[in-house]
Amino acid sequence: MTFNDKADISRGKASKRGRNTGLAVGGGGLGLVVLFVISQFLGVDITGLADGGQAPAGPESSLDQCLTGADANENIDCRMKGAAASLDEYWAIEYTDLGGDYVSPQNLQLFSGATQTSCGSASSATGPFYCPPDETIYLDTSFYDELRGRYGSSGGPLAEMYVVAHEWGHHIQNISGTLEKAQDGKTGPDSNGVRVELQADCFAGSWTAAASKVEDTHGVAYLQPVTQAQIEDALSAASAVGDDRIQQAATGQVNPESWTHGSSEQRQRWFMTGYDQGAAFCDTFAVSGPEL
Ligand SMILES: [Zn+2]
Repeated sequence: MTFNDKADISRGKASKRGRNTGLAVGGGGLGLVVLFVISQFLGVDITGLADGGQAPAGPESSLDQCLTGADANENIDCRMKGAAASLDEYWAIEYTDLGGDYVSPQNLQLFSGATQTSCGSASSATGPFYCPPDETIYLDTSFYDELRGRYGSSGGPLAEMYVVAHEWGHHIQNISGTLEKAQDGKTGPDSNGVRVELQADCFAGSWTAAASKVEDTHGVAYLQPVTQAQIEDALSAASAVGDDRIQQAATGQVNPESWTHGSSEQRQRWFMTGYDQGAAFCDTFAVSGPEL
């Protein structure tokens, strides 16, 4: 999706922590963090990360240079800040319409290399995730290179923003209490964990459909209307991170009983459910297993 050049993204809740130096690579829990990479790839949102592996904080930037939609179109960090501005405004209205009291996430924390969170230490290899105690989304934008390369997604701007919108969906689930349902530790194609993940994909779709109507404080829409090619782009990303695709690529086999995020087909379908019907139709807990 393309931002309107004049849109004001300065209110976007995002910051960036620079690359750490002196990271204790051999630190206690880092091996455990790596274990999560395959299974929790698009969000170590619930399981929690490993402790240890002290990661000293790098310099923090509040991304003050990211002011307009033109900045967001040109620069990936600004694009993330712009997405945060749009998502925050969208959910402030949508969540209220759904009958809830919206609370913004604390931050969209971009980082490079590694960072400490209340969920443990995270490295780039962890992939993007939402940490409930921090109410913060953590994301190393180098993940997008991996999405395009290793996972074979087309990976344009909407694919990138779909990832942020998915993680924002976990924040919505956190404030609504839905996220807790996934903490039973179960896996499988109709497990609560998969239902939570598919709902986050659905929420990403509902935001995508509404995004060109979400406006900044001056009445300028953040984003231009989405094109079919951009939808294909987001679906390409949703497909690339399907559990079956990842398992097939990693082991040559598909084992649905260990799924945590849903298949490529499920993830694309729920994204489109949100896109076509809106967030009110994203109740993945209301459908039976075979319909999920
Ligand atoms: Zn997720």
